[in-house]
Amino acid sequence: MERKKRHSTAENILYLLRHVTKADRTYLPALAAALAVKLALPVVATLLPTAAVAALTRGGSMGQYLTAILGLMALYALGTALAGYLTQVMSFKNMRFRAQTFTPVYFRKALTMDFCLLESPEGQKKAATASAALSGNDVGVEGMLRHLEPWLLNLIGMVLYGAAAVRLDWRILLVLLAMTGANYFIALWAWHFNMRTKPTADTFLQGQKYLRREGGQPANGKDIRLYHMEKWLMDAHNACVMGRDKWRRQSFTRRALRSVSDSVFLVVRDALAYAMLVGAFLAGNMDAAGFTLTIGIISTFTKWLNEFVATSDDWRYETLEVDDLRDFLEQKDVLNHGPGPDVSQVRRPPQVELRDVTFTYPGGEGPVIDRLSFTIRPGEKIALVGLNGAGKTTLVKLLSGLYKPDSGEILVDGIPTTAFHAVEYLRLVGTLYQDMKVLPFTIGENVSGREDYDRDRVWSCLHQAGLKEAVEALPKGLDTSITQQLEQDGIDLSGGQQQRLLFARALYKDAPLLILDEPTAALDPLAEADLYQKYARTTGGKTSIFISHRLSSTQFCDRVVYMERGRAAEVGTHWELLEQGGKYAQLFRLQSSYYRSEEVQYENA
Ligand code: ADP
Repeated sequence: MERKKRHSTAENILYLLRHVTKADRTYLPALAAALAVKLALPVVATLLPTAAVAALTRGGSMGQYLTAILGLMALYALGTALAGYLTQVMSFKNMRFRAQTFTPVYFRKALTMDFCLLESPEGQKKAATASAALSGNDVGVEGMLRHLEPWLLNLIGMVLYGAAAVRLDWRILLVLLAMTGANYFIALWAWHFNMRTKPTADTFLQGQKYLRREGGQPANGKDIRLYHMEKWLMDAHNACVMGRDKWRRQSFTRRALRSVSDSVFLVVRDALAYAMLVGAFLAGNMDAAGFTLTIGIISTFTKWLNEFVATSDDWRYETLEVDDLRDFLEQKDVLNHGPGPDVSQVRRPPQVELRDVTFTYPGGEGPVIDRLSFTIRPGEKIALVGLNGAGKTTLVKLLSGLYKPDSGEILVDGIPTTAFHAVEYLRLVGTLYQDMKVLPFTIGENVSGREDYDRDRVWSCLHQAGLKEAVEALPKGLDTSITQQLEQDGIDLSGGQQQRLLFARALYKDAPLLILDEPTAALDPLAEADLYQKYARTTGGKTSIFISHRLSSTQFCDRVVYMERGRAAEVGTHWELLEQGGKYAQLFRLQSSYYRSEEVQYENA
């Protein structure tokens, strides 16, 4: 599929300029100074030999000659030094803008955009391609800004020197423009190839990045070694590298052709210009100084012209990357970010009612949650069970306010979840997932989710989660870093300790609605039983939902909701459902018979 431009190059440059001038008040003055100096330099450079030749051929004293030449040379040296300094200043400003202003903008968007957008395949793709615009000095954001100064310089120079050249001989200008036009079309041809093929080339790049990231994860490292997957992964990686490389070569060849045409045209242009000028000189229509000036003007004009075309060509590629970045940043949130009811008016614990809730993932084949209705009473503990794919985790995402139903509503204390400001609503929900990760910060920061936290409260939550003693035994206590990724003396937590820490985090948040999605899946039965007891003890005063594959956990819940294909197939207490003899009872018997038969085997052994 051919890549489409969403914003013109001019729009993207103005967009970047708006941001850079807001972040850096001296950007425009510095740019103007750099332009002024760099425009003046070639003028001096053109005048210098002309003045020398004029002084030699038109007579005049040696003193006058030396003063003029030395003065111009000193001016030129000063200008060169100033130009070098301003180049550094601009280069630093552009780099700082990318690293300090725009990269955080990207990161903030990734951290705060609606989760449902971030998680969608489309959102993931946008996030991956957008980051390319910030990945170097000569690409995307920084590349475009970096090329602004030469582009303007070349444009102004071209107009000024073009005007001078046309006054000298319009035919020369015509020749130059024709050649540049030819160059331009070659560049355009290379670019169209790029537009046509870049989407495929990007998938090779994503593939490489994905394989390197996943292959380097310790969690995958075990399987890779034990199942000898190195060759398979290396081959897959190489295929991506080769695919990308082939594209880069094809693309490069096309762009290189422009440079070749540049050189050929340069020779033709110079030959023509010299032929005309030498003709004029020999015919006596031009003196030596005029000859030198004209040659100077023409060669400088050609330089402006060529560089203008080259910079415009660079922009053509960079603007696509800026387009990708804007596409990511300008994604519109779909949840409610307007005013909403005050979350503090929600009673603790709240009632939660699902009314005909239906939800389909974008691009999904059918509803994952299908006209689901049931009510959770204030303070009730609900066990949500069902086979894989029944829609339990999706329901949790809807209850957590990370997604919104396509139709129907979830009412918390009678208020639809979608009425709340999406970020405010999150204050009502505490979650604990199986696949949640602790971050490489200190224990205290992990529990509280912030840098400045209430230490007593963290200790109390660790106590309730059964982790206090273990943390007390550490020399740095709450200030111990988890993992050694950021701190050398960090520690690694066992699976059970991690779950306890995450449980302490949920307790610290103290939200009235608590959702635990398979929180004990990775734990041994003793640790699991202990954690269940702690959950049961600490969830008083909260409305809670437990998802677990191990049906034993349902026994400490008040009621069970058995889900099937996005619907509440059976709802009741554990004993009621057993008596009903439906799907839940069948599943429970299957699991307990498995445990019983294991017991029998152990007894016989
Ligand atoms: P459960 O937690 O009961 O195993 P899930 O809610 O995870 O069920 O999944 C229900 C269905 O939704 C499955 O068919 C799954 O493939 C699909 N699904 C889950 N997450 C996504 C997603 N992010 N995008 C698209 N489909 C999804």
